[in-house]
Amino acid sequence: MDTTRHYKNQFEDYSIAVSHNIVRDDTIHDAFKSLLTSKIKNFIEVLKKNKRKWLDSGDYSVYTGQAGIACTLYHYGKYYNDSENTNMAAEILQRCATEFKSRREVTFLTGIVGPLALTAVMLHSQQKREQAEQLILKLKSLSTYVLDKRSGVPDELLYGRAGYLFGLLYLNSNILPAPIETDLIKQVVSCIINSGISYATSNRSQSPLMYSWHDTEYIGAAHGLAGILYLLLQARQYLTQVQIDDYIKPSLYYLQKLQFSSGNFPSSIGNFSDKLVHWCHGAPGMCALFCLAYKVFEDNTFLETAIQCGEVTWERGLLKKGYSICHGVAGNGYTFIHLFQHTKNIKYLYRACKFAEWCFDYGLHQNRSPDRPFSLFEGLAGVIYFLLDMQQLHLAKFPMYDI
Ligand SMILES: [Zn+2]
Repeated sequence: MDTTRHYKNQFEDYSIAVSHNIVRDDTIHDAFKSLLTSKIKNFIEVLKKNKRKWLDSGDYSVYTGQAGIACTLYHYGKYYNDSENTNMAAEILQRCATEFKSRREVTFLTGIVGPLALTAVMLHSQQKREQAEQLILKLKSLSTYVLDKRSGVPDELLYGRAGYLFGLLYLNSNILPAPIETDLIKQVVSCIINSGISYATSNRSQSPLMYSWHDTEYIGAAHGLAGILYLLLQARQYLTQVQIDDYIKPSLYYLQKLQFSSGNFPSSIGNFSDKLVHWCHGAPGMCALFCLAYKVFEDNTFLETAIQCGEVTWERGLLKKGYSICHGVAGNGYTFIHLFQHTKNIKYLYRACKFAEWCFDYGLHQNRSPDRPFSLFEGLAGVIYFLLDMQQLHLAKFPMYDI
């Protein structure tokens, strides 16, 4: 086990005595909520004060660019009923959808699909349906490339088909009537599953579905099997019973067996080091998958796996690497949000609050500053997003990963 990557968690674990000003009954105490509000407002000011830095970057993506920061401004504006921020977000998103030129980057997080889908949903909510429709057509037209087996598109979430699938599902869950045809979603889902079967068969994998990215069989949320399975499970209404029973479920059992006794997961097949406890690699990204698997299949062992992910994240999740959503404390905080949503156990609510409290000191406890310090997945915008989600836990969703 690697002990050099995290701070020792000095917070006392949940008990009624230590949690009285933090949680009450099954909700967050008003005193802690006002702390959240003051920190959020403070961080939003910092984000906006540095506007020129992130607006001039030329990065229009959700992951590290302006579109992701706009998501946080929109989330903030909606929660505090502040139209100045929602309008600013709308303006930025529209520009991202226009300026993002590459047609080879087809995912929600790193490609054009994120800006297109987010802008379409926003325009639709403003009754600008024809403009929204144009963006949706553009997004759908990318499917030819995504579905082409010779295009070299991978299957993982950040750069591959699962990241395109997120865009389709996002549109259908935010626009009524659903604008994406069932048939297209079924084609994308089948393409991902067939690709996994084909790779698993030719590489004699013990899992019925397996994938590789840059010649490595990653298993985490960002590049690996877990992220792909999570998207497929969220798209389960478009899957056949055979796809669910013969491929998804046994792959989950395969993945489950890879869990270390610590509760963490390796980052790839054949790598036995128990190192990374991040959303992108390791237990925090696995927790959402096994919570959902428990909900869908009602198998208690899936919940047990998720709970173990929570234990190692509590133990080793205060990372020296920083505070980000992707590989930092805010992303790890969602582990407890997911566990609380699925179990209603107040211990997880308390633990989520303590990780939020750690984020109040943003920037103070980290080895180095992130490359994109204001972005949604690497920087401040992600921390604000997490703190906003703490204010409305029943609605909280890991940004652009939970549909
Ligand atoms: Zn990461």
